[in-house]
Amino acid sequence: MTEAWRPDGDDDRTRRTGSAVKVRVPAKINLHLGVGPLRPDGYHELNTVYHAISIYDELTARRGDTLTLTMEGEGAGELALDETNLVIRAARALAAHARVPAHARLHLRKQIPLAGGLAGGSADAAAALVACDALWGTGLSRDELAEIAAGLGSDVPFLLHGGTALGTGHGESVSPVLARPTTWHWVVAVAERGLSTPAVYHELDRLRAESAAPAPLGPADDLLAALRQRDPAVLGAALGNDLQAAALALRPALADVLKVAQAAGALAGIVSGSGPTCVFLAADAAHGGRIAAELAAAGVCREARTAHGPVPGARVI
Ligand code: ATP
Repeated sequence: MTEAWRPDGDDDRTRRTGSAVKVRVPAKINLHLGVGPLRPDGYHELNTVYHAISIYDELTARRGDTLTLTMEGEGAGELALDETNLVIRAARALAAHARVPAHARLHLRKQIPLAGGLAGGSADAAAALVACDALWGTGLSRDELAEIAAGLGSDVPFLLHGGTALGTGHGESVSPVLARPTTWHWVVAVAERGLSTPAVYHELDRLRAESAAPAPLGPADDLLAALRQRDPAVLGAALGNDLQAAALALRPALADVLKVAQAAGALAGIVSGSGPTCVFLAADAAHGGRIAAELAAAGVCREARTAHGPVPGARVI
């Protein structure tokens, strides 16, 4: 039997009052991102450890006669709000699955940078699934939502889930990492411009074909052991990303971001997913604040934010 997906019982309350549903969804970073060789089907097998951090998008859903999307914040005026937007695609996929009309007025407040390697689009898709499920009272099981999520993108199932989790396949097959609760403190260096995820994968394939890429990371065993030790210095030493060399090749200026944070005392630094966002591990919140201030002062990134993780996935608030 599948578990019913009832975020804090808000779907029931929404049906009674007809009020707006607001969902908060985090960004993700990859503590370990092992990328397998390019397969004949054009995909790479991934072996990753996802980690949800406290940088959030917010999606508000209200009743409407058609399906509309408005937005503010990161990427406003740049991101298409039509059928290509992952929010709209997720709402339509849920409506088709539940056989209900896809009618809602959706508003997105975006803080997750666009094309930043933080999976903001996937986060918004997860938020739309949870918000519309509550608005429409479709009451799908968690497994059903995860299945729709996987059809929308590899990172979407994790962003329903949140926390820290192992991702395999294309990343869509997610299992939670069980560790004693620990809060990790991060500094997130946001770049001026995004990087295309497919371009970064192509660059990795090219570097590998020329034997110019570092040896692949393989399984996440060391990272998982480090998480259990709850020591930020140990976790820092275990972070790894096979896409980092490719992101640096396409955006050499990222090397300066990594250097400045290291000089500022970061325990470790890594490109997040396909980049260009870089994330740094701090000993505690105050240490993170000092590293962020030094990054901002050096002018090597558009913005340096502090964040913590793990945090839950898409939830009604
Ligand atoms: P990923 O690593 O998941 O490929 P990313 O974090 O680098 O992605 P995203 O911000 O998720 O980047 O967006 C990737 C692309 O997805 C965008 O350039 C945009 O064309 C498309 N997209 C569609 N809907 C959204 C959305 N709601 N938010 C952000 N991007 C979206």
